[in-house]
Amino acid sequence: MMNIILFGPPGSGKGTQSIKVAEKYGLVHISTGDIFRRELKEKTPLGIKAQGYMEKGELVPDELLIDILRSEMEKHVNPEGFIFDGFPRTIPQAEDLDKLMPELHAEITNVLALEVNDQEVISRLLKRAELEGRSDDNEEVISNRLNVYKTQTRPLINYYDEKGLFAGINGVGSIEDIFTNLCNVIEA
Ligand code: ADP
Repeated sequence: MMNIILFGPPGSGKGTQSIKVAEKYGLVHISTGDIFRRELKEKTPLGIKAQGYMEKGELVPDELLIDILRSEMEKHVNPEGFIFDGFPRTIPQAEDLDKLMPELHAEITNVLALEVNDQEVISRLLKRAELEGRSDDNEEVISNRLNVYKTQTRPLINYYDEKGLFAGINGVGSIEDIFTNLCNVIEA
């Protein structure tokens, strides 16, 4: 089984690349951001709980995440593996995942981060705001999401580097070139 974590700042292209990686290696793509947006659209209790955090660019509380992840993973019988897009986003989430994986007879095989500078990320997100109208893609919320990434998510680099699982990939360039680099690391 191949179980890949893909992370990076908001707007780094995680979603796009995760879908391509999932397709190429036959993995199940799990995006916690997509799950929350779906739940919110359907106005489920979980969606309503997450709404306030998402609109401010804050993280949804850690304790909500692991059960969501477990139930998504358990939907699939004998998967080739998973690609996690936007999870874990904090050290406690990573620790929860470390407990969950062995219960599912699985382990993390790669942790990849797309590296994109602030200026590029901000301009991409503002462009996405025009195209898709995501309510968390406005200037104030974007700057909060970037701060949250730096303070809460970036420490995961060290966490996974110490386990020998981490690789950073340049996230600026063409979608195909970035994808090729990701695949090279996955297959190395
Ligand atoms: P981005 O494009 O900012 O990386 P996502 O689409 O992955 O955003 O997620 C959107 C929002 O959903 C986040 O700002 C956060 O509020 C919530 N969210 C998604 N994944 C997580 C997570 N693992 N932990 C906490 N909150 C999350």
